[in-house]
Amino acid sequence: MITSDLHMHSTHSLDGNNTIAEMCEQALNLGLTQIAITDHVEWLPNGTHQRPDFERYFAEIEMCRSRFTPRGLTLLSGLELGNPHEHRTEVDALLASYDFDVVVGSMHWLAGQNIHYTRCFDGHDPYDVYARYFGEIEQIATTVDCEIIAHFDRIFWPGTTRFGPPEVARIEAPVRRAMRAIAEHGRILELNTRFLTHTPGWNDALLTVLCWYREEGGQFVAADSDAHRTAELGRNLAVAEQLITAAGCTPYRRQVAPVSA
Ligand SMILES: [Zn+2]
Ligand SMILES: [Zn+2]
Repeated sequence: MITSDLHMHSTHSLDGNNTIAEMCEQALNLGLTQIAITDHVEWLPNGTHQRPDFERYFAEIEMCRSRFTPRGLTLLSGLELGNPHEHRTEVDALLASYDFDVVVGSMHWLAGQNIHYTRCFDGHDPYDVYARYFGEIEQIATTVDCEIIAHFDRIFWPGTTRFGPPEVARIEAPVRRAMRAIAEHGRILELNTRFLTHTPGWNDALLTVLCWYREEGGQFVAADSDAHRTAELGRNLAVAEQLITAAGCTPYRRQVAPVSA
């Protein structure tokens, strides 16, 4: 059973709905024993920057550690960096300023378009967009000091809505290059559990990509909820475990707990 979740959001993210303490409480209710609170750090194409007030964030983390560690929960600090490969200087400065346990690297913007929306495909062959997306994932894995590469299938969410489930064989080369970069640089591939029971789904594509990751040298896969509210914690973990083991991979869990102050 998977009992680790290293990607979720609290009220320190603009789109988060619950406090760190509420996420901890729900994690314990679900039998999770290791979680990371990875709030958003974003550089938007319009030039604005979003990030938590990390002084307040770490104060809350420490408070929750003293409250929840005795109850059996390992609480890790962290952050989710959006398009960090395009903001290397700022990212390096931020990572040098604070001692984050878990650094998550994510693609959220492609050619200035928010990839949450189907209009990021406007005027393009979807397979060109997919290939470009995985090229950017390869860049994050190669150039940014992050532990986890988040939601590698993020582009399939709007893509499937608009065009149906992806035929990943058509983008095998760029996907394999991204998987190889993740493995070679010692990063962990995340299987985001959010849409594993979505209809129409793309779990066949996920399994294929996980098998390529394994073939390219990868082993560990983090099953992460990316929860933005307590109700989203722990979702689809059984499906995730099935996919990860079917590909010959191993669910990821941090082996070394941080030394808390
Ligand atoms: Zn994300
Ligand atoms: Zn997230």
